[in-house]
Amino acid sequence: DQLLAPPATKLPTLRSAVTGLPAYVPGRRSAGADIAALASNESHYDPLPAATAAVAEAAGRMNRYPDMAAVELRERLARHLGVTVDEVAVGPGSVGVLQQIITGLCDAGDEVVFAWRSFEAYPILVELAGARPVRVPLDDAEGHDLDAMAAAVTDRTKVILLCTPNNPTGVPISHDRLEAFLQTVPSSVLVVIDEAYVEYADAGPDSLALFRRYPNVCILRTFSKAYGLAGLRVGYAVAVPAIAEGLRRTALPFGVSALAQQAAIASLDAGEEMEARVSGVKQERARMAAELAAQGWKLQPSQGNFLWTRADKQLLATLVDAFNGAGIMVRAYQGDGVRITVADPASNNRVLRLLEAHAA
Ligand code: PMP
Repeated sequence: DQLLAPPATKLPTLRSAVTGLPAYVPGRRSAGADIAALASNESHYDPLPAATAAVAEAAGRMNRYPDMAAVELRERLARHLGVTVDEVAVGPGSVGVLQQIITGLCDAGDEVVFAWRSFEAYPILVELAGARPVRVPLDDAEGHDLDAMAAAVTDRTKVILLCTPNNPTGVPISHDRLEAFLQTVPSSVLVVIDEAYVEYADAGPDSLALFRRYPNVCILRTFSKAYGLAGLRVGYAVAVPAIAEGLRRTALPFGVSALAQQAAIASLDAGEEMEARVSGVKQERARMAAELAAQGWKLQPSQGNFLWTRADKQLLATLVDAFNGAGIMVRAYQGDGVRITVADPASNNRVLRLLEAHAA
């Protein structure tokens, strides 16, 4: 038997926008009881019982496709937010919705302005769409420099991404400053307010009020953080009906499973339980912030479920070694600093003990 050699041909090639992207390095998964998973700003609480029950119930129908238009979830969200159902679009995580936003609005060469450092997915999604990321450095207080962002807008700008409270620094944008910014931005530019951590914030904009007055505002939220459904992948946008409808058109068909849709509805119905969990995290955040300040750390007050510290190259390397050695998974940003999720008191105490040894 003679094996046929494959004909020598050129291999299929990826687009340069794809080969130029950083390779995806998955985080180490939390294996073992001694590992503290503080790298992804997840909820450390067990899933809400009502969400687990809703998933089990929906699983009995998993031979069927989910509702592609997610009508029941969108109606429940509309009621929760005080908007209309045609102003809501859902997707596979808010990162999925954000991809729909960028591919729905940007042609090749269009520009997307965002603060840096902010959520790592922003430049990746922009480049993947063939658009151009425009990074505007954060201000000295680790917040958005809205004047510089307004100055970065050109006639190629299609989208501005604002993250409040900002991941990874935890700093919110104030309502008044955001409104002043919206006054200067052309109404043809979509201003996305990414509020992945809004449930944890005591300060920040009233984004729904701004949405009602500025039709170019789009609010982006998720069930992955405070609602504790990171593994199910469901997020949503609030936008004027024409934009929301456009987002639904760019969506991957059936991208949000029936399990995710039902769990999200059950989570919205369990609002008080969710709020109790959020206040538990906020108390821990305050306790850690106070203790770290007493240790000599100079941190900006965080409005998210995470803490952030700047660290030069040497300190970062020291901290990464120490956290790895202690079995605590945190997120290190080369050249910038470290972000640590606020979780259960025992994990938080491990973080406090470790940082005490490295305080200035
Ligand atoms: N926006 C921000 C600011 C985030 O930090 C994250 C998750 N890290 C997301 C969006 C995406 O979350 P998801 O896709 O799970 O909704």
